[in-house]
Amino acid sequence: MLLLIPGPVATRPEVRAAMAQDYAPWDNDFRTLYAQVRERVRALAGGGAETHTALALQGCGHFAMEASLRSLVPAGGRMLIPHTGQYSARLATLARHAGHDVVAPEVSQDAPLDPAVVAEALAADPAIRHVGLVYSETGSGVVLDAAAIGRVVHAAGARMILDAVSAFGALPLDVSAMPELDSVAFSANKCLEGMPGLCMIVARTERLQQPEAREGGSWALNLGEIYAQYQRSGPGSFRFTPPAQVLASLDVALDLYEAEGGREARLARYRENVRTVYEGMIGIGLTPYLPRAVQGPIVVNIHAPADPVWNLQTFVDQLKRRGFVISNFFNTPLPSFRVGCIGAVTPEDMRRFVAAADAALTEMGVRRREPAPAAS
Ligand SMILES: *Cc1c(COP(=O)(O)O)cnc(C)c1O
Repeated sequence: MLLLIPGPVATRPEVRAAMAQDYAPWDNDFRTLYAQVRERVRALAGGGAETHTALALQGCGHFAMEASLRSLVPAGGRMLIPHTGQYSARLATLARHAGHDVVAPEVSQDAPLDPAVVAEALAADPAIRHVGLVYSETGSGVVLDAAAIGRVVHAAGARMILDAVSAFGALPLDVSAMPELDSVAFSANKCLEGMPGLCMIVARTERLQQPEAREGGSWALNLGEIYAQYQRSGPGSFRFTPPAQVLASLDVALDLYEAEGGREARLARYRENVRTVYEGMIGIGLTPYLPRAVQGPIVVNIHAPADPVWNLQTFVDQLKRRGFVISNFFNTPLPSFRVGCIGAVTPEDMRRFVAAADAALTEMGVRRREPAPAAS
């Protein structure tokens, strides 16, 4: 069964095999492994040993974002979180729960956010000191130009925190070239192709050292406390019980990442996966949601076909019988289905998927495959 969802992703057997043993998390062997994973991830983000720290915590991507919002944005701070889609909306919810005063202007969800919109919002309201941004909007499939937006944030003297959960490891990122960036968050189980259960943050070390970093209203989801633990007990000391098997498998996943050729090779494979799905869906009479020019390399949304017999759950069940799992929900304003193009999957897998989708639609009797007319 092949997962074609935008996380958790299909993994390689070597990655899963690293889970098949017990680990003593306080043992020196495991400490060495953890410290090594932290260093590898910091380097991947472009962080300097003197300026940046990689931290890991138990849980999924949302935990890393909540910890960042609570530790690096001062309590009650005003934040700009443009409404780029489903995940920016969640970021805004996490920020509100952390007690921040969130400004979330409506922007186009079908095109990358214009940095000028951020510049204007910051100029209009100088009380905004932080910007929260989603690098790759997994809801729509659109990728933002995080570096360009970062530059306008920097020019306004504000700070930024970045949700790169569906971007890290594939899309370009150099935190050293982004002085405005306080943290970037991601999880093991998306473009790094590891197992779920571990999330990570690369943060500016000086921010973690400030006393306010330990005050965010949560003791468990607190980056200042995690950093203090490294200071007290060493760089391989995980705060509380780690998902040790997940961490060990991430180390193997990072080996495979390097063997593949690193970030650029991975991005090239994902782009080709997306291209294969995008063109393949057109070939079987369906319509991709986004224009080619703004379609990102992570997830493709396809308009639900107009035929009255169309039913997403039936389609999902039909695909599963043919060896593929896609999401049984959609995040777009109009009905769609989504195909994750990240993970240990290849363009050849995507070609087989397109054939399976065509066969499933035929068996369902879906003849009218153009988009359903928008409900007005
Ligand atoms: C997957 C994802 C998350 C986190 O999802 P979790 O289920 O908490 O791991 C956050 N932001 C984006 C953009 C994502 O794609």
